[in-house]
Amino acid sequence: MSAHDPHCIFCKIVAGQIPSRKVYEDDDIFAFHDIHPWAPVHFLVIPKQHIPSMAQLGPEHERLMGRIMTLAPRLALEQGCNPYPEGGFRIVCNNGTEGGQEVHHLHVHVMGGPRPWLRG
Ligand code: 5GP
Ligand code: ZN
Repeated sequence: MSAHDPHCIFCKIVAGQIPSRKVYEDDDIFAFHDIHPWAPVHFLVIPKQHIPSMAQLGPEHERLMGRIMTLAPRLALEQGCNPYPEGGFRIVCNNGTEGGQEVHHLHVHVMGGPRPWLRG
């Protein structure tokens, strides 16, 4: 699996070739607001490396996925989600066509804020 896929829109977002509203960036992880938000807060957290979905994960990705999942709650609060337990946030990760995945670069949706939401 190559680190970047020249045809992938999320690889292009990571590279700055497609503009996005950045939420967070470090050496391995990028986060940005979803272009069609379902909730008052809705951003995506992705590895910079092109991994198509969770179906391709192996032991070498444990640290990366652990970092994504522990980063998400911190970013959720920073982006305006209300604190747990009255507030909270929803994490969704779609995998494969039957799993509802449209963009085949692994991404975690983080959604939150006051109800009602458009979807979810
Ligand atoms: P999926 O259905 O694959 O889990 O979700 C893909 C998400 O990416 C959708 O919520 C969609 O709105 C978002 N998305 C697709 N293209 C772009 C884009 O060019 N920029 C941003 N910021 N989000 C995008
Ligand atoms: Zn990609």
